[in-house]
Amino acid sequence: MAAPQTLANRLVDGFGREHTYLRISVTDRCNLRCTYCMPVEGLAWKKRQELLTFEEIERVAAIFIEMGVTKIRLTGGEPMVRKDLPLLIRGLGRMDGLKTLAMTTNATLLAGHVEDLYASGLSQLNISLDSFKPERFSAIARQDVKVFDAVMAGIDGALKQNFASVKINVVVMSGVNDDEILDFVEFAAKNRVNVRFIEYMPFKDNQWTNEKVVTYKDMLALIGEHYQLRKLEDDRSAVGKDYAIEGGIGTVSFISSMSDSFCSTCNRLRLTADGQVKSCLFYPAETNLRDAMRLGATDSTLQGMILDSLRMKPEAHPPAEEIAANDNRAMIEIGG
Ligand code: SAM
Ligand code: SF4
Repeated sequence: MAAPQTLANRLVDGFGREHTYLRISVTDRCNLRCTYCMPVEGLAWKKRQELLTFEEIERVAAIFIEMGVTKIRLTGGEPMVRKDLPLLIRGLGRMDGLKTLAMTTNATLLAGHVEDLYASGLSQLNISLDSFKPERFSAIARQDVKVFDAVMAGIDGALKQNFASVKINVVVMSGVNDDEILDFVEFAAKNRVNVRFIEYMPFKDNQWTNEKVVTYKDMLALIGEHYQLRKLEDDRSAVGKDYAIEGGIGTVSFISSMSDSFCSTCNRLRLTADGQVKSCLFYPAETNLRDAMRLGATDSTLQGMILDSLRMKPEAHPPAEEIAANDNRAMIEIGG
């Protein structure tokens, strides 16, 4: 059992930011190959023994919770391709001190499993969907068009379940799907859902160019011509700029990582599927907890390594062109 949170092990970085949110990638594998996430040439999947086991994930999660983490999100790759995922969700869901257990999924495998996930302790679900047009969805995801129906069935199931929140993540790319922004707003207006428009971010070999970024200000201006949006109160650590739609049921948000970064209030840390802690999504530095654990590191040694990783966290991420050129891993390998 790790030592409880003290002033010495609190997850506060050199810029006074307190970290309460851990994103855990449970696999680097995925059944889609989204153009903005996965390099064109594909990736060699990690071998099973390179990934953390559920026991190792739970041990690290418990240490982070002792240090002040209150929210965990499971992600990937596609988290639902990891065998027996509900077992992990149940294990994490039982941990004292954890207030929110969330997951981000592409929803291809969601339909039929929503109830089980909810019963296992999952409280929030984020689902990625970049187009309502099956052919376009298929071109972006580089998968058979039939998969689109499975995703929509998954979304439908999620909306019927009683999750604390269901969000739809849309990566907006100029000339690719920006003509559907209003369709997504309409979807939010009609359903109990938060649609999050995400600015296209650069990662290794992901076809990113500055011209393909649609800024949140441009999206707001377009939406403002057709809908009345009302800004919602800022949650200090939230990354989204959130808006209610006048007369609508759901809400829309903008994740402006490129045009107006939220680094100054960043409260997140990441654990990759192969057991590396990353203190910044866009910064290549990684701290290898997996090998330390397998060599017998104690919980307090692991806590020290986590704090070392936090000390390396930059004040803000580099400019976009620099990010695109550095040797950070691909999004799918890090965990979004
Ligand atoms: N496979 C799951 C999914 O797609 O929801 C979880 C992992 S995915 C890497 C997590 C999120 O990262 C997704 O919502 C995806 O749209 C987002 N993402 C991936 N690459 C991105 C990029 N280049 N720019 C912005 N968001 C990106
Ligand atoms: Fe897979 Fe998600 Fe990346 Fe798409 S965004 S390739 S679904 S990990």
